Amino acid sequence: MVELKVCHLYGNLLNTYGDNGNLLMLQHRAKQHGITFDTEIVSLDQPFDPAKYDLVFFGGGQDFEQRIVSKDLQNKKEDITTYIEKDGVMVGICGGFQLLGHYYVDAAGNKIEGAGALDHYTLNQENNRFIGDIVIKNDEFGETYKGFENHNGRTFLGENVKPLGIVEIGQGNNGEDKTEGAHYKQTYCSYLHGPLLVRNVTLTDRILKEAVKKRFPQEAETLFT
Ligand code: GLN
Repeated sequence: MVELKVCHLYGNLLNTYGDNGNLLMLQHRAKQHGITFDTEIVSLDQPFDPAKYDLVFFGGGQDFEQRIVSKDLQNKKEDITTYIEKDGVMVGICGGFQLLGHYYVDAAGNKIEGAGALDHYTLNQENNRFIGDIVIKNDEFGETYKGFENHNGRTFLGENVKPLGIVEIGQGNNGEDKTEGAHYKQTYCSYLHGPLLVRNVTLTDRILKEAVKKRFPQEAETLFT
């Protein structure tokens, strides 16, 4: 039996715009492929064990919750970085995406420390949010993803981090350089709600296959053909 151990990072604090739907979608597609899910929330004052999970989900949130999470994250950042560097599969949406980077300057101007696991940083913008439908294209996978963005933060990627896609419609990471989200090793980040995976089944299956592959390499090939 293929069972995935899934961690919902700070799932009791970060869940704006129905981002939990990403986990429900992963679970739904997993079931269709005969894979079961064992999900647990890892939140404040609980250790994150990088060896334990096949898939980690880190959702979006408001600035208030992000500030709370940021403090706790400083105790988990080494383990989260280890997980990512060892090709652990992770999905970070909006606030979760921001917190995986170096820092996030919130709408009120507070600098919120991130995990520094990915090479990006996020600035704010005055009296504006990027809100609306968004379409991005991932050239590596030859896939187009659709969603809805709603964020104040403007994220800038470091040199070794690829975007999840190039913006065709909408604002993306910062409204300037046409990048959207981040893709580093097996970590997939995005500002897209919708939720992202419910609206983009090809990406769901891609992530799911990678999650299965690490612990069940043979099954990954047979279950996803
Ligand atoms: N609070 C962050 C911002 O406005 C993240 C929002 C979100 O996760 N939807 O940029």
